[in-house]
Amino acid sequence: MSDPLLRVSGLKKYFPVLGGLLSRQVGTVYAVDGVSFSVNRGETLGLVGESGCGKSTTGRCVLRLIEPTDGEVTFDGQDVRNLGGNDLPAMRRNMQLVFQDPFASLNPRMTVGSILGEAFTIHNLAANAREREERVAGLLVKVGLKAEHMRRYSHEVSGGQRQRIVIARALAVEPKLIVCDEPVSALDVSIQAQVINLLEDLQAQLNLTYLFVAHDLSVVEHISDRVAVMYLGRIVELAKASDLYRNPQHPYTKALLSAVPVSDPKLKRNRNRIRLKGDVPSPMKPPSGCHFHTRCPIAQPRCAESAPELKEGPGGHLVACHLQA
Ligand code: SF4
Repeated sequence: MSDPLLRVSGLKKYFPVLGGLLSRQVGTVYAVDGVSFSVNRGETLGLVGESGCGKSTTGRCVLRLIEPTDGEVTFDGQDVRNLGGNDLPAMRRNMQLVFQDPFASLNPRMTVGSILGEAFTIHNLAANAREREERVAGLLVKVGLKAEHMRRYSHEVSGGQRQRIVIARALAVEPKLIVCDEPVSALDVSIQAQVINLLEDLQAQLNLTYLFVAHDLSVVEHISDRVAVMYLGRIVELAKASDLYRNPQHPYTKALLSAVPVSDPKLKRNRNRIRLKGDVPSPMKPPSGCHFHTRCPIAQPRCAESAPELKEGPGGHLVACHLQA
């Protein structure tokens, strides 16, 4: 297999918490605390966990929209953290972000044509206005819209169409990697599947690589080749999607999967819903040892003392749990 397109190693992002009259540092949010993974070319890695687990911060550190505290990020053989000068914009062209909220990411005062045309202008990708318009029309068709959508404003189209425009803008610069940060969570369930299918079709056509961030395991099930589950800044399980859904190993993944809605009434009856006690602890004060021990139904005394390493089991299935040898 060729080298992964993206390799993340020991990534940490700590945010200082300021307080008091003098705005002194009164604490630290351990948002991402030693995360490692890789994404192969043409692959989709789903990154899943509850709100505040550090998954979106991980995506933003990869793109260097925020500076990591520690760790390495290598994209297409280049050390992302040490890029400067013209190399950083060139790298950013190859790594695009699709946001959760298409309302917030599209300028309401610009037509769709201007929003998409801007990318071609900034990166000198069209020789003149006519070529730019042709390329905008081509992009709109590629994402399942019509060329005439270029004359509209973002508030004149539906939520699903807006997210297609956001995807088109990401595609304008022909990126290799797209970080999809909860791209369907603001959409109606009926539209979510359409946008996911579109992302899958585009991946097949353009050999795109996705890091797909979501809070819901059911959203990433069909699009992901592999899935990583995060809890309080750490990856607790990472495996091939089929393996993880059929044979989850970590108690947290098992609890998340037990909450995924199923339509089959027989499956529903036989399923044992695992209800976790308490809320997710604050990332300012993560529990000692295994961060999950305060909620884990099978925790043992040693779980509070030392953090389990992410260890590889059969089929490359990685799990961080003392009870999984
Ligand atoms: Fe639960 Fe202990 Fe495993 Fe953590 S290490 S998941 S607390 S059994």
